[in-house]
Amino acid sequence: MGRMLVPVEEDFPGVADVVVIGGGIVGVTTAFAASKAGLDTVVLERRKGLGTLTTAASEECFRAQFSEPENVAMMLASIAVFENFAEVVGIPDIDIGIHQQGYLFLSDAPNGPEKLKAQVAHQQVIGLEDVEFLDGDEARRRFPWLGPGVTAATFRGRDGWLSGHELTYGFARGSDASFLLSTEALDIVVDGDRVRAVETNRGCISTPRVVVAAGPFGGIVARMAGVELPLSIVRRQKAILAPHALIPQDAPMTVDLESGAYWRPEVGGAALGWAHPEDPGVPLERVPTDWMFPMLVLEKVARLSPFWWDIAEGLRRESVHLSAGQYTNTFDKKPVIGEHPDVGGLYLNLGYSGHGIMGSPDGGRRLADLMTGKASEEQNPFGFERFARGVVLASEEKMVI
Ligand SMILES: Cc1cc2nc3c(=O)[nH]c(=O)nc-3n(C[C@H](O)[C@H](O)[C@H](O)COP(=O)(O)OP(=O)(O)OC[C@H]3O[C@@H](n4cnc5c(N)ncnc54)[C@H](O)[C@@H]3O)c2cc1C
Repeated sequence: MGRMLVPVEEDFPGVADVVVIGGGIVGVTTAFAASKAGLDTVVLERRKGLGTLTTAASEECFRAQFSEPENVAMMLASIAVFENFAEVVGIPDIDIGIHQQGYLFLSDAPNGPEKLKAQVAHQQVIGLEDVEFLDGDEARRRFPWLGPGVTAATFRGRDGWLSGHELTYGFARGSDASFLLSTEALDIVVDGDRVRAVETNRGCISTPRVVVAAGPFGGIVARMAGVELPLSIVRRQKAILAPHALIPQDAPMTVDLESGAYWRPEVGGAALGWAHPEDPGVPLERVPTDWMFPMLVLEKVARLSPFWWDIAEGLRRESVHLSAGQYTNTFDKKPVIGEHPDVGGLYLNLGYSGHGIMGSPDGGRRLADLMTGKASEEQNPFGFERFARGVVLASEEKMVI
């Protein structure tokens, strides 16, 4: 059973097999897998609770509809964990609020049918057998609130969303790791070409392995070990709308592929977002919101789901809750999972862009396998080498969120 504590001197661990820096979903899933693999695992989280930075800002969605085989494999493995969560973490009564109402990607482009048909054919070849192509009429038959402009769609019914908070705490409780709260990593001690210890505000922990899982702060933490990471930090906002009779609660996560705007039902209301153009920035503890955002996103989602016009007309500010977090992006929007080639024992698990909730259950398992020698870097599609090379692959991920 995982231990969560603000350590005092007596229970501060001086030694560990692995120290994970960051207690968001990525650090917690790493700790779950590492501790279950038999490693004495300590997580450092400088905030008062787990999963309160980027993880708390998420739309909490998951999907297997990707176009690269390693992404499809990662998400299918994570979704299998969500579907069997109580058994995986060994907590019979746990409820992560899983809603498998599907993910619906929409196009209104004239060549939408041609493009999405080809995409579904490709996805089926790379292992995603249950994704469907829908033409505009079929999409409107299944989802009558769609507008006349929709020309094509893809749909997978086992995609959906869940509670990121319950997921994070479920992994922590089900692990055999220690989670040190209000405990900040200040330095990573490197001796020769290997990590030796982590200095914190409460003392030093000797360890042969350090995992950088600090989300947007990953670049700053990696620099403690003398390593530079080419990450791009970009703000993303989320608007939660209060319950409204016009919002179909049986709808899937609905994404407009042309504009990048999306929405899904949320306890009588909805959660909305938009992959809007934004300049990269620096990592922030408090990410500012912009009150133009709800209007902009409503205008975008109303394009293909016109009932949003009626809601937007009567909308009052007190019915909208706005929040923001930061994507930690790599050049190809895929995470970096593995050991740094120049500093032995320095492991990275970050750069999940918009996919850390859905990807990290499998990502944490992959990293634990690398740390215990169960998997090798040669078999690792998410390793540092590809990230450092920064080569945009021919099949670069095209999905918008
Ligand atoms: C608006 C928005 C919507 C999103 N929607 C989705 C979605 O639908 N599905 C999905 O899968 N993903 C989504 N994401 C992405 C997802 O939220 C992230 O990929 C994920 O939360 C990253 O988790 P993390 O643990 O890496 O980072 P974080 O949650 O940021 O955790 C990092 C932790 O490290 C700690 N830390 C930093 N420095 C130190 C230090 N020196 N010492 C100790 N602790 C430190 C921080 O305090 C923080 O708690 C969304 C993101 C945003 C912003």
